[in-house]
Amino acid sequence: MIADIRCGRLDSDEIRQNFSELHPPLTELQAIQESARCLFCHDAPCVEACPTDIDIPGFIRKIASGNVNGAAKTILSENIMGNTCGNVCPVEELCEQVCVKNTSEEKPVVIGQLQRYATDHLFESGIQAFKRAADSGKNIAVVGAGPAGLSCAHRLAMLGHNVTVYESRDEPGGLNEYGLAAYKMLDNRAAREVAFILEIGGIKIETGKSLGEDFDLAELRRKYDAVFIGLGHNAVRTLGIESEAVDGVYNAVDFIELIRQEDLSTLPVGRNVVVIGGGNTAIDIAVQIKKLGAESVTMVYRRGFDEMGATEFEQQVAQTNGVLIRTQAQPHRILIEDDQLAAVEFEYTKKDANGQLTGTGETFVLPADQLFKAIGQVLDASPLEADEKPELTGDRIKVDKFQHTSLPDVWAGGDCTPGKDLTVTAVQDGKIAALSINEYLNHG
Ligand SMILES: Cc1cc2nc3c(=O)[nH]c(=O)nc-3n(C[C@H](O)[C@H](O)[C@H](O)COP(=O)(O)OP(=O)(O)OC[C@H]3O[C@@H](n4cnc5c(N)ncnc54)[C@H](O)[C@@H]3O)c2cc1C
Ligand code: SF4
Repeated sequence: MIADIRCGRLDSDEIRQNFSELHPPLTELQAIQESARCLFCHDAPCVEACPTDIDIPGFIRKIASGNVNGAAKTILSENIMGNTCGNVCPVEELCEQVCVKNTSEEKPVVIGQLQRYATDHLFESGIQAFKRAADSGKNIAVVGAGPAGLSCAHRLAMLGHNVTVYESRDEPGGLNEYGLAAYKMLDNRAAREVAFILEIGGIKIETGKSLGEDFDLAELRRKYDAVFIGLGHNAVRTLGIESEAVDGVYNAVDFIELIRQEDLSTLPVGRNVVVIGGGNTAIDIAVQIKKLGAESVTMVYRRGFDEMGATEFEQQVAQTNGVLIRTQAQPHRILIEDDQLAAVEFEYTKKDANGQLTGTGETFVLPADQLFKAIGQVLDASPLEADEKPELTGDRIKVDKFQHTSLPDVWAGGDCTPGKDLTVTAVQDGKIAALSINEYLNHG
């Protein structure tokens, strides 16, 4: 087999069409009709299910009455990344899953899309919804300009504190800018949201500055009144089999970053593509490489469909885009021809009597000119090295319910701390940490 990896498998028009939005924006009429479907429940279950506690009936009522910017302010007061979340939250497992309309009409109110409608409206109007309190004279360092770090920075700035955000990359936004699927985050949406966040004032962003390289935690603690760490996941898991470094084998997150940053027609795309993993990242690379023109894309997961990290909706998105999902198989061997990936051998898996996953000894081979590894991202805690460092739990930073670490003046949140790895939970962590930091600064 000869590896067939090419750029521009599809022409620009086809690519543009394939990468059009998953959910096109609601029109004004659709938004009004949809908001009228809401029953404005007392003790609404959707509010309980939203990790950021947005007053969902409250904002939908405002859309229904024509106060769309007011609706946006209600959303952003609890979730400053409510615009991104309206596009990327797995609503089928959060707010929309518990909407009472599911039982009466089998279709929830489309809360995420209404949220996006309102916040788009506010951003397009150019109005700034938030004001900064009088300068407190306190200085806080935030490490990482992802959803957790920016949410923390915004709330601290609102409360009058001065924030410096240190970000190792060239652009702020974290995975909103570099990771989320391109068809969920069109039109510089992430950058527009960051600009809105910074507009409040009191937040300085220093890009190209890395904790653990340009400064350490001890230095930040000496210089600032408090520190928030929002490093996200800064390392990827490996398959642990031979030849992972051969040409044609990629880390899915690295390639996804290229999809978000580069001209799509310049990306190398294989004819036969194999993706290993069962979460968000696996789905996102499988769908996007198919949209870029790969002929066959097979996603292989070692457990069953019901144990996949990706939601049922995401699995459907993959399948309707022509991705074949195979379960109960683990990679066994990478097959190489002419120093290039040629195929991947998988071993079937099953659960043993103790419920442990084990190989059955039977194998199958999938031809592949590209293989994407999407088996999880982790925190590499080495940037935290200092004379005193926060305690870890497993491979994450240990925090209490206020996102406070084991160090008195250090808080943390987002993917580097325990909990679900979602944009919305990272935003909530940052907000909770900011309120706790504020309490600490005001009352010790
Ligand atoms: C491919 C992919 C698709 C996803 N899709 C979805 C989705 O559809 N819906 C959803 O809700 N969630 C999704 N997620 C998860 C979501 O993106 C994350 O949970 C969220 O971004 C976590 O925010 P964070 O701020 O903790 O981390 P990040 O977004 O990773 O931000 C961390 C920031 O810290 C910076 N940093 C790292 N190390 C250093 C250092 N030493 N010094 C300074 N800065 C540093 C990084 O450059 C980055 O900007 C997806 C994740 C991936 C990987
Ligand atoms: S932030 Fe996410 S979970 Fe919360 S209401 Fe909005 S779309 Fe639903």
